[in-house]
Amino acid sequence: MQSIAVFFDRDGTLIEEVNYLDSLAKVKILPGVVDGIRQLNEKLIKVIVISNQSGVARGYFSEDFVRETHKFIAAELAKQGAIIDAFYFCPHHPSAGQGEFRRNCDCRKPATGMVTKAIREWNIDVTRSFVVGDSASDMQVARAVGAQEILVSTGHGKNFQDMGFYTVAGVAEAVAFVVSEGEKT
Ligand SMILES: [Mg+2]
Ligand SMILES: [Zn+2]
Repeated sequence: MQSIAVFFDRDGTLIEEVNYLDSLAKVKILPGVVDGIRQLNEKLIKVIVISNQSGVARGYFSEDFVRETHKFIAAELAKQGAIIDAFYFCPHHPSAGQGEFRRNCDCRKPATGMVTKAIREWNIDVTRSFVVGDSASDMQVARAVGAQEILVSTGHGKNFQDMGFYTVAGVAEAVAFVVSEGEKT
């Protein structure tokens, strides 16, 4: 049987936006995230993080640092009973930095590569799934793959309020919407 997923952006959505997070000390999990993820876990809805991390291409931090950050976030949440099923990130940028990560790729949002990979790996029914993020690029991913978009007002979310995206205050409200939609079907 196929699963429903919520694809969460990371920076500005699950944790505070600090612009190119380069230290675990800067990780601040946003209000509503622990409880929201716990609710999704209880409903057996997959919780999948999809994150652009062009700081790798720009030379600000390594891919290993991004993986370490994801382990840290997962552990902090797990201590409180909230489980993230998977993390996907894009280390690339089409024009910034140099080396192997400076290239056009199919994973940097608004491209859909991270979601399409997760759909395959987790057998997700994308038409019943959701993308929650604080940027227009997250909402573009949602529309491109046929998932429901939910813009949060945390992080950069305030900059995209008038663009016609379905908008809520934060992750708590996003999860309430996901759960209410699930109860209709
Ligand atoms: Mg973001
Ligand atoms: Zn990429």
